[in-house]
This record gives sequence, structure tokens and C-alpha cells, in this order.
Amino acid sequence: MSDLLCFDRTDLSESLSNRRTIDFASNIYSSTGDRLCANRSDVMLTVEEARVGKHDFLLTPCSAERFRSPYGHEDPHRGCFGNLATALDEGGVKPDQIPASFSVFMNVPVDGETGKLGVEPPLSKAGDFTSFKAGMDLVVALTACSAPLSNKGDFKPNRYEIIGEPIA
Ligand SMILES: [Zn+2]
Repeated sequence: MSDLLCFDRTDLSESLSNRRTIDFASNIYSSTGDRLCANRSDVMLTVEEARVGKHDFLLTPCSAERFRSPYGHEDPHRGCFGNLATALDEGGVKPDQIPASFSVFMNVPVDGETGKLGVEPPLSKAGDFTSFKAGMDLVVALTACSAPLSNKGDFKPNRYEIIGEPIA
């Protein structure tokens, strides 16, 4: 499971927006062919191919606060939020600018009657992948999530590949 964030490289105040994406898609499970939009409605990423059609775009990256409650960890680590905040700080993104992440492979079922959210093991199998095409030059951050519930208690490294010309 991996939290994905992106920002417009030329203007970091434009960032990935779950609200805009869900507005346009009228669906909370973005999959193959769907567009992930920015807070200004521009297309930041298009899902080229998703081997699993269920990813989460409702929750924020896991954090020390979330590990403390509801998970009950007494000495929580910084989670994806802390890792993203540290990595993105170098690029000029402050913690308050970090939006809800697109959580690749995170399985968050929604109860249609009550609206209650669950966190279940990912539906992905070994070899599954999700590929994206960028709609603009982006600053991208990606985590290897360490939340036990989101990963079925298993923490294997995530592999990623950038095709094209990454800008240093
Ligand atoms: Zn996480």
C-alpha cells in the first residue's frame, strides 16, 4: 500500500484533490481511465492501468495522531504523513499543504447504509500494479505505508518506476 501525492511543479499551491476528483467521477474508487484532479480542476494524473480497481481516496495519510487513536499505539511512529512532510519540506511544501492522498491498493469499504468506513487488507496480489500518466510537470511523493491494518500486517517494499524524464 502506498500513499501518492502530487503538486504542480510550477505552483505548489495546486495539489491533488480527492474532492475535485470525486466531483467529476461521481465515484470514490478511481480506476483504469479515471482522471485524478487538482484543487483547481486540472488533470494531474490519469490512471492508465489499475490491476486492482479499488484504491482509497477518502482518508488522509496515516500519522502519529491516527496511530494513537483509533489504533491505540502509545509511542506511535510518524507514519506516511510524517514521511511525506519530511520529504516534501525539501521541495517547499509545508505539512499544512498535504491533502488526502491517493492510497494505491488501500481497501476502504464503505457501508452504504451507515456511511461507516472500514480498513481491510488490500485486494492486490504479487505482481499487481497501477500505472499513471502525468497531465503536467509534477512534484510527486510516494510512501511505503507502515500501517498494519492497511497492509495485512505485512511490510514489503513497494517498487515504482518513472518513465520519461524525471526532473531533479
Ligand atoms: Zn500509511
